[in-house]
Amino acid sequence: MIDRLRLLIPMMVGLVMAATAGAQAQTPAGTSAESFEEWLAGLRAEAIQLGIRVATVDRALAGATLIERAIKQDRSQPEFTQTFAKYFYSRVSQKRIERGRALLQKHAGLLGKVHARYGVQPRFLVAFWGLETNFGDYFGKYPLVSSLATLSYEGRRGPFFRAQLLALLQIIDQGDIGPDVAGSWAGAMGHLQFMPITYREYAIDMDGDNKRDLWNSLPDVFGSASNYLSGVGWDGSKTWGREVKLPAGFDFELARLNVRKSLAEWQTLGVRRADGRDLPKVDIEGAIVLPGGHTGPAFVVYRNFRKIMVWNGSIFYALSVGHLADRIAGRGGLLVKPSRTEKPLLRTEVMEIQTLLAAKGHDGGAADGIVGAKTRAAVRAYQKTAGMVPDGYPTAQLLDRLRAGN
Ligand code: CA
Repeated sequence: MIDRLRLLIPMMVGLVMAATAGAQAQTPAGTSAESFEEWLAGLRAEAIQLGIRVATVDRALAGATLIERAIKQDRSQPEFTQTFAKYFYSRVSQKRIERGRALLQKHAGLLGKVHARYGVQPRFLVAFWGLETNFGDYFGKYPLVSSLATLSYEGRRGPFFRAQLLALLQIIDQGDIGPDVAGSWAGAMGHLQFMPITYREYAIDMDGDNKRDLWNSLPDVFGSASNYLSGVGWDGSKTWGREVKLPAGFDFELARLNVRKSLAEWQTLGVRRADGRDLPKVDIEGAIVLPGGHTGPAFVVYRNFRKIMVWNGSIFYALSVGHLADRIAGRGGLLVKPSRTEKPLLRTEVMEIQTLLAAKGHDGGAADGIVGAKTRAAVRAYQKTAGMVPDGYPTAQLLDRLRAGN
């Protein structure tokens, strides 16, 4: 889980301090860089100022150490970009679908109770569960106080991690978890990998033992996830979206997340269900998404899709959760299969595309090797001038044309 929403909230007194600490942490050795111990002392003072008990702070920070592995994880950049096919097949596997179905049955009573209270359909809870920890198989083994302290101190995203660490200390102070809590290198915890701020704001005690336990209590886990989703605006009377079929001559300029139209409008534009039938006659707005470009599967996605993206901002993630939920509920697979043979681009190739596009006047933002909204917009702009299908999807073919100077 990524906590993007919370990033936007002006964070506490420590922001300026953390930014300063971050800058100092990157100062070359031999200068007046603040040591980790000095930094911890500053954090301790801030935590106490926030009202966290001194005893809790001292107990939690007592064994805090720098964890080089966490820094390495934070800075690691894969050589290849990930194709939708690779991402999707590794997360929505037949094995996971079957296990999800069995667990949906097994926990039907509990999931029904949670559904009645928060309105989030059980199939989605099980799908998030499958994607986050393979239904509780792995929670992460990083000591979180040390891990978050390291990432706060080290500075690349210092203010973000510092706010998460302070939230973690508050949760420890409330007694929900102990100071030796473990999780992912980035601070995600329990069955559904809640970040500390999300935990602090949205976790609930569903089983009534006065602890919000996201490791050992499935009622707390499902209740908390539902509380979070309904808190960000999940609509339990609707689904996430569906696979669709686009008509010949479809205007691919319309295939983007921020172009929303009613299903009736999409129907008029020739969009159909994947099997060719009319779109449902439901009063709902949707956007067309093409995760693997115009040759891959197409989807119309609704409001709940954007709520999944609040949980994790990746379109691939949101499509995987939505589709896995459908499969767990017994629905069929995609009719257009994501290409298993598509070669992923190297990050350096994406950088080259970004650089070549910029040289042609299509600004795709920094040449960072990451395909974001800006890069997709630049790709689209170029595709239009080059007479290609403007789906905003960078491919090896696109790079070839750019290299040839076309
Ligand atoms: Ca509990």
